Amino acid sequence: MAIRKIVEIGDDKLRKVCKPVEKFDKRLKQLLDDMADTMYHADGVGLAGPQVGILRRIAVIDVGEGLFKMVNPVIVEREGEQSGMEGCLSVPGRRGIVTRPNVVTVEYQDENGEPVTLQVSEFFARAVCHELDHLDGVLYVDKMDREVSDEEYQKYIDEAEEDEEDDE
Ligand code: ZN
Repeated sequence: MAIRKIVEIGDDKLRKVCKPVEKFDKRLKQLLDDMADTMYHADGVGLAGPQVGILRRIAVIDVGEGLFKMVNPVIVEREGEQSGMEGCLSVPGRRGIVTRPNVVTVEYQDENGEPVTLQVSEFFARAVCHELDHLDGVLYVDKMDREVSDEEYQKYIDEAEEDEEDDE
């Protein structure tokens, strides 16, 4: 287990187009494991290669449906639309409203190089779009509809907690 340093906005590495992975070796597996550790440690739901300074087409995602390690991922189908709040471990302290497809189909390779096709929706689809943007040097702040203020975010958190209490 190794926690890697997360690269933050302003660093050139977040603005590069990443290269595909060609070698599925021990080093790749170690890197994906480190990325997962780093993501969990930072309380994130996704992390892409450039965010740990690795300019390769790799990402890890866990939105509560298990850990997905995606190598050379490509979105092959997009359906519908959703607008919602997004943040990024590389853009600390900020949040914005971003419009994304509601359903995406993503093709990728697993850590052994086996091809996988996955269709995901809602928050999972948002996470896939967000992480894949990183592989092309794009950050959510480039495409957000608007920034969410700290006050507005606090209100959102408070309301979410109230909703939870109502459910009990
Ligand atoms: Zn991000």
